[in-house]
Amino acid sequence: MTQSFASLTLPAAQLDNLTELGYASMTPVQAEALPVILQGRDVRVQAKTGSGKTAAFGIGLLQQIDVSHFTTQSLVLCPTRELADQVSKELRRLARFTANIKILTLCGGQPMGPQLASLAHAPHIVVGTPGRIQEHLRKNSLRLQHTKVLVLDEADRMLDMGFADAIDDVVSHLPTARQTLLFSATYPQNIEQISARIQRDPVAISTGDVS
Ligand code: ADP
Ligand code: MG
Repeated sequence: MTQSFASLTLPAAQLDNLTELGYASMTPVQAEALPVILQGRDVRVQAKTGSGKTAAFGIGLLQQIDVSHFTTQSLVLCPTRELADQVSKELRRLARFTANIKILTLCGGQPMGPQLASLAHAPHIVVGTPGRIQEHLRKNSLRLQHTKVLVLDEADRMLDMGFADAIDDVVSHLPTARQTLLFSATYPQNIEQISARIQRDPVAISTGDVS
């Protein structure tokens, strides 16, 4: 059964935008996760690659952004620069109806200068890799005390790449009162461990299909 985005409590401008993007109905993972995410709950989602996980967290986190506050209100951690670029691109498409929203990508292997210049005015949303985010936190160029939503995208790959300690360090800079959304294509045991450390009463969602 397909479900329309219109069954969700979303602004009319976002519903129109999704129609323009050609998103006629929710994918299965979106249909399961979005109602829970929009309630403000933590989720731990396992769904295969290509199932539409970016919009599942993207539509959710955009609802929490107040563009009149010049603070970083959402942080998305990704394993690689390529994935961070893809997520930023999709978030920009999903945010087209929101004027003046600032989304910044911060990844390693890129020069610091332009990143520091972009951070002079806090972006509403930061997408980046754990190591470079840690570096900016150390320099105090990035402040996360107003961050309401944290997303771990491709959490399984981040753990495979040895980012567990970096993630814990980044999380220590975030308010404890936040929403934490964890997405993964596979579900190894170490996901359960990091979820237990950084999430609060998460709803476990699995679309059943394994990558
Ligand atoms: P995943 O993160 O699960 O691998 P993505 O978020 O990258 O998947 O989405 C895969 C593709 O599906 C993207 O091209 C995206 O634009 C598209 N997509 C996402 N949601 C929908 C939808 N509801 N309807 C149509 N296409 C969608
Ligand atoms: Mg993805």
